[in-house]
Amino acid sequence: MAKMIRKNYLMAPGPTPVPIDILLEGAKDTIHHRTPQYLKIQEKAIEGCKYLFQTENPVFILSSSGTGAMEAAVSNLVSKDDKIIVVNSGKFGERWLKLCKTFGGNVIEIKKDWGTAVTPEEIKETLDKNPDVKAVFTTLNETSTGGKHPIKEIAAVVKETSAVLVVDAISGLLALPLKMDEWGVDVVVTGVQKGFMMPPGIALISMSPKAMELVNKCTTPRFYFDLKAYAKNFPDSPYTPPVNLVYQLSKAVEMLKEEGIENIWERHRIMADATRAGVEALGLKFFAKDAGDVLTSVWVPEGIDGGKLVKYLRDEMGITVAGGQDHVKGKIMRIAHLGYMSQFDIIIVMSGLEMALNKFGYKTELGAGVKAVEEVLMREGV
Ligand SMILES: *Cc1c(COP(=O)(O)O)cnc(C)c1O
Repeated sequence: MAKMIRKNYLMAPGPTPVPIDILLEGAKDTIHHRTPQYLKIQEKAIEGCKYLFQTENPVFILSSSGTGAMEAAVSNLVSKDDKIIVVNSGKFGERWLKLCKTFGGNVIEIKKDWGTAVTPEEIKETLDKNPDVKAVFTTLNETSTGGKHPIKEIAAVVKETSAVLVVDAISGLLALPLKMDEWGVDVVVTGVQKGFMMPPGIALISMSPKAMELVNKCTTPRFYFDLKAYAKNFPDSPYTPPVNLVYQLSKAVEMLKEEGIENIWERHRIMADATRAGVEALGLKFFAKDAGDVLTSVWVPEGIDGGKLVKYLRDEMGITVAGGQDHVKGKIMRIAHLGYMSQFDIIIVMSGLEMALNKFGYKTELGAGVKAVEEVLMREGV
């Protein structure tokens, strides 16, 4: 093939593509953070975040990737030997587990098969047996599998107890419905490089009054992520905020608010339905039993090395999707439809996938996946 300029398509579950208007916002002059001019921008960003979290609680801006907010949640809520429940159905549930153990929690693990949802009954049963549990840690969308957990139903159970419910919504927020206040979720954490269409570097955490009470009582040593300091300074920051990223956040929430939360959820639902129809038409089998709309995980066909397939898509075609982790490394593929995606991005990834699979010896009719995607898009009227 002749040498050609290459265009890249980011279809991984984070980081996700960033719209040019948001990128340009970051190029603006850095101003001092202790000024009314800056505070106005941060306040706008926070107001937008509160809308997107569907909460009246404060949303704190942390200078870190998503895991920083996870660590903040644990180090501010879990005191040594506190009994806590962790739902583990993949790599990110496992991260809650590791964090909670790191900070001395007495962890009760609810382990589920990868891609399988925990049931509210399982949570209720565990809480009934352990009335002294302080917190329940779970995940909206388990990015390593594409599986989701029924947060609304879990919240209804946890709400009736003295425990707080903590949700890792790092990849799930905006792609799947989550109504923090209405559902009674106490703590929501996210990172902006996923549904928020931002470059990495900001994590967000929101806390209900019930959770803040626990924060105030928590005896675990912490400093940079001590949320008491963030609450005291709110909506200002205790330390230098990532000024230019906050400009970008302010722009991102403006764009997302303009679209409207219901429309954002619907956009992700349509992209997910189109992708699912496409891979199904190619004869691929779904990996997650309880899949959400963040990403589509599929088994790589027998006899094909998934690692090589993902590498080929990325290096030869410019399409970045994610492979599998741990025991499904090389065996599954994760196609994200998260954040700044249009219907034609789905067509591109499906077209690339068809060509790559054929190249690797998995014979499908060219255009079969694309056709199925187009049929869903036409039906949805997009
Ligand atoms: C991406 C992700 C994380 C980790 O976020 P980092 O920004 O890489 O620290 C944690 N949990 C879930 C569910 C994620 O999707």
